[in-house]
Amino acid sequence: MEIKQRLSIFWLRRDLRLNDNAALYYALKSEHPVLPLFIFDTAILDKLPNKKDARVHFIYKTLVSLHGQLNLLGSGLLVKHGNPIDVWQKLMQEYDIAEVYTNHDYEKYAINRDEHVRGLLNSDGIGFYTFKDQVIFEKNEVLTGTGQPYTVFTPYSKKWKEKLNDFYLKSYPTEKYFNRFYQINSLNMPTLNDIGFEESGAEFPPPVVADSLVEKYGELRNFPALPATSRLSIHLRFGTVSIRELVRKAIPLSSTWLNELIWREFYMNILFHFPHVSDGQAFRKEYDGIEWRNNEEEFKRWCQGKTGYPIVDAGMRELNATGFMHNRVRMITASFLIKHLLIDWRWGEAYFAEKLLDFDFAANNGGWQWAAGSGCDAAPYFRVFSPTAQTEKFDADLKYIKKWVPELNSFSYPKPMVDHAFARDRALSTYKAALGDKMPKE
Ligand code: FAD
Repeated sequence: MEIKQRLSIFWLRRDLRLNDNAALYYALKSEHPVLPLFIFDTAILDKLPNKKDARVHFIYKTLVSLHGQLNLLGSGLLVKHGNPIDVWQKLMQEYDIAEVYTNHDYEKYAINRDEHVRGLLNSDGIGFYTFKDQVIFEKNEVLTGTGQPYTVFTPYSKKWKEKLNDFYLKSYPTEKYFNRFYQINSLNMPTLNDIGFEESGAEFPPPVVADSLVEKYGELRNFPALPATSRLSIHLRFGTVSIRELVRKAIPLSSTWLNELIWREFYMNILFHFPHVSDGQAFRKEYDGIEWRNNEEEFKRWCQGKTGYPIVDAGMRELNATGFMHNRVRMITASFLIKHLLIDWRWGEAYFAEKLLDFDFAANNGGWQWAAGSGCDAAPYFRVFSPTAQTEKFDADLKYIKKWVPELNSFSYPKPMVDHAFARDRALSTYKAALGDKMPKE
């Protein structure tokens, strides 16, 4: 009979790196050699309509690189494809697993999945240990004086900063224990085709940001024509960078950039404490009474970047072509869909979720509900961005617009699909009708 070596498994999810990784650190320090595992979850993949999904491609490329790094250490990455519960059941037959280590994920689906996996492993006497890794503060670490979760950003960020000290910013020195990986000769990775996907042709930004960019971030971040934001969102999404390293970089260089990193945690905090936002509900329930027009033809024009409002069209075309859209333009396009066209913010949220390389439920839902006015600490309902005024402020020489809408001055470019002043009045009266005496004061 073959004697199996007892081992610990490190399960990677949104933390696709070997450096400064909490769960990996504790796994390597455990009694047993560590085998890293990634599961391509069919419950998630089967819902993706595009077989050239760039996010799957990004994950795949990252796993190939991790596998290569682990090979140099005499180990490898075990990659599985299936429903996580089924995969774990098989792994429990195949390996002598002592313990499993993984990092927290705050999305509702992931919390449920992890509880199922915990139950399964524990029923066989296998320990399931989980850690905070993707944020500086999680769950109940930043609460109000009366122990409630914050729903307004500024006091949340103040408390966040007060609580911060070197302890929370220290990297986990995983490298010291790299000799603790499970030694294995052959571990074959499935190909992208094996899991039903293909290369996307997308270009991914590097996982680094220059100090000079961060220093100028506060001054330049709102101009979409400039390469003035970090483009780290995809890396933060999949954990190919460490949040601790980024916060250490932000502190001496830019309080504005630090605030953006805190916004990310703020929305994760909202998702964790107010899970009803994952069920398609408005954070402020009274906003669910708005009578949306939901015109499908108009929605299509918005998606395609053919609204006749150049800044909106440029943003949508950037998104469709690259999977990225500048933050200022995300706000403008979202506001336009919701307020100018009176289309349910959930339609826009779903479209962004399908297209954004950096799609993150908490940030995307937070951004959309902010634009709709229905979120925590949202833009007030009466703020209806004027695409023209926004263009004058942030793309005055039309550099960004001309890049994405080259036919701007030709006959083929459509006329604005709705008049701004008319749309503004219509949005205000529709919101007023729904909110009644719950209207925030102008
Ligand atoms: P930088 O400006 O360099 O900021 C650094 C990092 O801070 C970002 O990578 C991101 O992780 C975080 N961050 C910045 N702004 C925000 C914010 N407002 N909310 C939460 N985190 C923030 N961000 C996502 O990561 N995923 C999404 O799905 C997403 N959807 C959005 C939808 C709408 C309608 C809006 C208005 C914003 C959305 N954002 C989302 C936030 C923001 O637009 C992006 O994080 C940012 O544009 C990414 O570019 P960057 O990496 O260059 O960011």
